[in-house]
Amino acid sequence: MIKSKPEPKDFEKQSVQYLIQALDLIRSNEENFEFIEDCDVRKEDYWEYHQGILNNSLTLLFLSLENYLKKEICRVSPLLLLAGEPKKWGSAKESKKFSELFIHQFDDLLVLYQELGLGELTPQTKTKLEDLRIKRNQITHGVTEGILTPNYVIETFYTVAVHIWGPRKWWDQLKNHVFNEPLFGIYDSDHEKASVTTYVEFLVSYLGKAKSGEMLGVNLKQRNYYCPSCHYWLNHEYDVTDSNYAILSPNTPTSKNLYCVVCDQNYEVERENCQVPDCKGNVIGGDGYCLTCWSEQDENR
Ligand SMILES: [Zn+2]
Ligand SMILES: [Zn+2]
Repeated sequence: MIKSKPEPKDFEKQSVQYLIQALDLIRSNEENFEFIEDCDVRKEDYWEYHQGILNNSLTLLFLSLENYLKKEICRVSPLLLLAGEPKKWGSAKESKKFSELFIHQFDDLLVLYQELGLGELTPQTKTKLEDLRIKRNQITHGVTEGILTPNYVIETFYTVAVHIWGPRKWWDQLKNHVFNEPLFGIYDSDHEKASVTTYVEFLVSYLGKAKSGEMLGVNLKQRNYYCPSCHYWLNHEYDVTDSNYAILSPNTPTSKNLYCVVCDQNYEVERENCQVPDCKGNVIGGDGYCLTCWSEQDENR
C-alpha cells in the first residue's frame, strides 16, 4: 500500500508560498529603486545585470504553477500524480511512502489537468506556457537565451492567474497565507492586513489597472476611492502608502456601497460633496473622510 498520501491543501500551500516568493523577489529589489535612480542607474540596466534574481523569480512562478496543477489533480486522486506503471510502484509487495515515488513532470501534469476536465487552456495560454517551460528549462540547464525582464515575469503571472487559477483565487490564497503567518499581528494586525495593498500597487505599476483588476476579479478601471479602513490603518501612525483601490458597487451615481478588494469588505458611504473646493469627490466614508482626497469633513458645516 502507499502511505502518507498528500492532500490538495498540501500542494496549495506550496503553490502560494512559491508565488509569494516569486513576487517578493522582484518587489524587494524595487524598494531600492529610489536609491538606484539617484545614482543615475537605469532600471533596465539594473535588471539586466541582476538576471539571476529574475531567473529565480520565474522558476518560483513555474513551481507555483506546477504545484497548482498537482493540487487540482490531487483533488481527483493523488495516485494520478504518480509516474510510471503502477506494477512498478512496488507498493503491492511492501508499503511505500508517497514521497518515495516519482511524480509526473510538468508537461504530463498539464495533459492530465486538461484530460480530467479540470480546466481548459486557450491557444494563447498554451503558447505562453510553452514559452515559460522553455525559459525555465534554459534556466535549469544554465543556458539562458536573451534578457529576462520583470515585465515578462509579471505578464506570465497575469496569464497564469487569469487563465489557469482564475481571477481572484490566487489573491484570496495569498492573503490567507500572509494572515496565517505565525508572526502576523504581533505588530498591529489591522495595519498588516492593509499592507497587502503593496501587492496591488506592485501589479498596477507593471500591468495597469485593467489587467490588475482582471486578476483580482474587480473592475479597477472604475473610479477608485480610498478604503476607509485600509487607508486609515496604513497611514494612521506613519504614512506608509495610499490604499485607494476601493470601488462603488454597484457603480451608479447614487450608490452607497463601496467595496475594497484589499480587505474584501463593503462599506456604507454617504453621497455628499466634499468640502474641499478643488475636490470633485462626493463619496464620504469612515469617520467623515472624503474618499477621493482623504480630507476630514467638518460635520458642523
Ligand atoms: Zn480595504
Ligand atoms: Zn475631497
